[in-house]
Amino acid sequence: MKIQLPLQKTKIICTIGPASCSEAVLSDMMRRGMTIARINLSHGTLEEHRQTFAAVRSVATKQGRRCPILVDLPGPKMRIGKLETEPLLLTKGTEVTLTTRDVLGTPTLIPVTYRRLPESVSAGSVIYLNDGFIALEVIEVLPDEVRCTVTMGGPLLSGKGLNLPGAKIFENSVTDQDLKLMDFALEEDITIFSVSFVETAEDILRARTFAREKGRKIYVVAKIERAAAVENIDEILEAADAIMIARGDLGVEIPIEEIPIVQKQLIRKANLSCRPVITATQMLESMIDNTRPTRAEATDVANAILDGTDAVMMSEETAIGQYPVEAVEMMSKIAVALERQRHMIRSSIFLQEQLKGELINRQITVPDTVSLNVSEAVRALGCPFVLTATSGGMTARRVSRLKPDGWIIACSNDERICDFLRFSYGVFPMLMDTGTREWYRRLISLLKNSGLIRRGDRIILTEGKFSGTTGGTDSLGIITIS
Ligand code: PGA
Ligand code: MN
Repeated sequence: MKIQLPLQKTKIICTIGPASCSEAVLSDMMRRGMTIARINLSHGTLEEHRQTFAAVRSVATKQGRRCPILVDLPGPKMRIGKLETEPLLLTKGTEVTLTTRDVLGTPTLIPVTYRRLPESVSAGSVIYLNDGFIALEVIEVLPDEVRCTVTMGGPLLSGKGLNLPGAKIFENSVTDQDLKLMDFALEEDITIFSVSFVETAEDILRARTFAREKGRKIYVVAKIERAAAVENIDEILEAADAIMIARGDLGVEIPIEEIPIVQKQLIRKANLSCRPVITATQMLESMIDNTRPTRAEATDVANAILDGTDAVMMSEETAIGQYPVEAVEMMSKIAVALERQRHMIRSSIFLQEQLKGELINRQITVPDTVSLNVSEAVRALGCPFVLTATSGGMTARRVSRLKPDGWIIACSNDERICDFLRFSYGVFPMLMDTGTREWYRRLISLLKNSGLIRRGDRIILTEGKFSGTTGGTDSLGIITIS
């Protein structure tokens, strides 16, 4: 057996859809650098999803690798109902009524799927349609209708999204329908879920508790796409296993000009709390129709990595785009080029120093101290690998957030822990029994046989060795390869 490392340390999450659900395309995407497959349960049938799970698993097995599946629960996404003619053109200055009744939409009366819309808005409220491209202002609220003026016009299609920035939404972030979908996915042995439109830590707990009652332990990714989630980020980070900066809806729910700064703040906080963070939406948007991205998109991907993101995600690019494989390849190339230089880039060095400073300033723990020293040692000695035995995955994540130059090989005897470790920057999980004292010797000879280390190289060993508690990383060893 030989170890084959991915091309890039940044994790690439690809949404699988009609453009990419065949084994042939999945196979190419995995070879080009896809780390994780995301299945968005907002679209498609359960039977289709079942087939996609099987295809991802089968292709990964054929290639001798693991490709975790991230199942995305739709949450209370509010949408426009069915329209009579498409596209329906809304003109600035005209009046339009939104209704909660089940009617066919006309230029003056448009159905919406959110029943309690009249309770959530009042005169003067702003309503966005179609990802924010169309804006309405509420004139009057009636029992099951909302009269509005079009303040920004445009074409509207059936099923497009509706956003109410800052409004109180009378629906759980994890809906009953989400729980039904989760039940289906649990049956299919899915262990990692993203939950949409999270507002509080309780939303995360609702999903987790549901799974626990079925005797299952799941990983929960909180999608940050509402202003409330940004406000409550500390408690959400505490409750969730990872976060996703869902820039699509977030860019409508908060002013779009705040997205860059919120992205940086969320990434920093996630890094501090050792939660993997995914930067999502429109990263290579133009590659839906083009073979190459715009310069701005290439720069956006690179900047997200510099900000400290663990993973970058593609949605339509790989789900319905014309060039899913090329998009993965491009994402990987941008990441590789950036990663090669990141330790020479001032803003990146500054962020790392800031993170270390914050870790030291708050009450520093023993595991934090060890991880800081691991990253210092990697730099000082140019270590190509950090080897860690990890019982819950925390030892590896604690090192990963500091974005050391070397790979972090995280060994665990639990496949689910390995799968979730694939979300963390620079972590290469390996299924291995670390109960024996000399587990790392086997790993070292494996690295040697794979041509990844040679005589004279120094590698780092870090684990919880003395305290014997989960997450109690307390040792740092340095081995010179003989
Ligand atoms: P979605 O989430 O693709 O499920 O909407 C991502 C986003 O809103 O950016
Ligand atoms: Mn969204």
